[in-house]
Amino acid sequence: MSSDKTDIVKLQSVNHLRITMDDYFSRLKEAVETKKKKIAWCTSVGPAELLYSIGFEVYFPENHGAMLGAAKTADKYIPSAVAHGFSPDICSYLTSDVGAFLQNETPLQKSGFASVPKPDILVYNTNQCREVGDWFSYFARHFKVPVLGIHTPYCINKLSGSIIQNVSKQFKDLVPELEKVSTQKFDIDRFRETVRLSHDGCVLWRKVLETAMNKPSPINFFDAVIHMGPIVIMRGTQYANDYYVILLEELQNRLRNNISSVTNERYRIYWDGMPLWFKLSSMAKLFAKLDTCIIASTYCNSRIFDDLDPKDPFESSALAYCKLFIVRADDVKEKVLEKLMSDFSIDGIIYHESKTCLRNSNNRYELPGRLMNQTNIPYLEINGDLNDSRCYSEEQSIIAIETFIAQLSDKHSKQT
Ligand code: SF4
Repeated sequence: MSSDKTDIVKLQSVNHLRITMDDYFSRLKEAVETKKKKIAWCTSVGPAELLYSIGFEVYFPENHGAMLGAAKTADKYIPSAVAHGFSPDICSYLTSDVGAFLQNETPLQKSGFASVPKPDILVYNTNQCREVGDWFSYFARHFKVPVLGIHTPYCINKLSGSIIQNVSKQFKDLVPELEKVSTQKFDIDRFRETVRLSHDGCVLWRKVLETAMNKPSPINFFDAVIHMGPIVIMRGTQYANDYYVILLEELQNRLRNNISSVTNERYRIYWDGMPLWFKLSSMAKLFAKLDTCIIASTYCNSRIFDDLDPKDPFESSALAYCKLFIVRADDVKEKVLEKLMSDFSIDGIIYHESKTCLRNSNNRYELPGRLMNQTNIPYLEINGDLNDSRCYSEEQSIIAIETFIAQLSDKHSKQT
């Protein structure tokens, strides 16, 4: 086993990624300064296409929460939100974002923002969790601006026509309110075009992730969570699509030249749950040292909305955003995971039980055991959190991960 940190092979596209993200924030800053465009806040799996099509610049507080986590500043901010009245047990994106706001700090200040961009309207979809509604409502009260929500049922097993119609109607009902705030009227052709762009971007993102089906994989989870930025915050724009063409080309080039993400890939792991944003780099090094590549994840795969269809933009938006993994019943999730295990030739699964994100922790209701019975693929559960480092014991987790990989190694030797 090698132990050099250079085992992580960096993607060159990261330079283009930086430019793409910087340009996005420049457009947002221009909207703040010139007020030529209105600003909508949107949840990461909210109706971004609709907002972009009606002429908003769109800001995503979850992306900001992830920035705080990755910068390891969340712990500094969470106590302010708790002192304000939010429980430390709820979403630590929410508590770190609100806490940073209360302390009047944001990493965006490095890019010339005075503070996070003031919203003209906030729009959420509860397909991911209820927290987003509470989070956005807090800021709506603070800024005295409207907040709109799409309320999607939870634990959807069968995606019935009535669910799709109900959610589709909720999408349509947003339009008059959005028009009142925006500088533009709703135009169905512009919406169709935004949905087309979003669909095409999602197809590119799927292709990016599917390069990991190859052995060895040219990309790993720790790259993917960084490179998924554009599909989260620029979904429905040409900017995101242009970026994924570049990234895909680099990955295909790696495949042609047999360049792997982890130098000595021997074990292929599926990651379920949120990333530990404050430990990305050390975890990437740990797994590389163990000749292990995190091949695929629920988190990154959940941003593929290729059911979007410009021919029927409202209904297909409802379908795409109700089909989302997080909003499905365990029976559906198990089938999705089973297929991913086989498609990506997975040796083992790691479930991250994220203390403050119930909806993204799939280990809590016995799913891992059931899936193992179906697939015979072993699993490990680790406790942690997306942003709150106090919920994570590094020493304990490293031992558990090293032991798990050693067990996979034994299994491999017995099979050969
Ligand atoms: S899904 Fe989890 S991490 Fe995302 S906003 Fe909801 S509680 Fe927070």
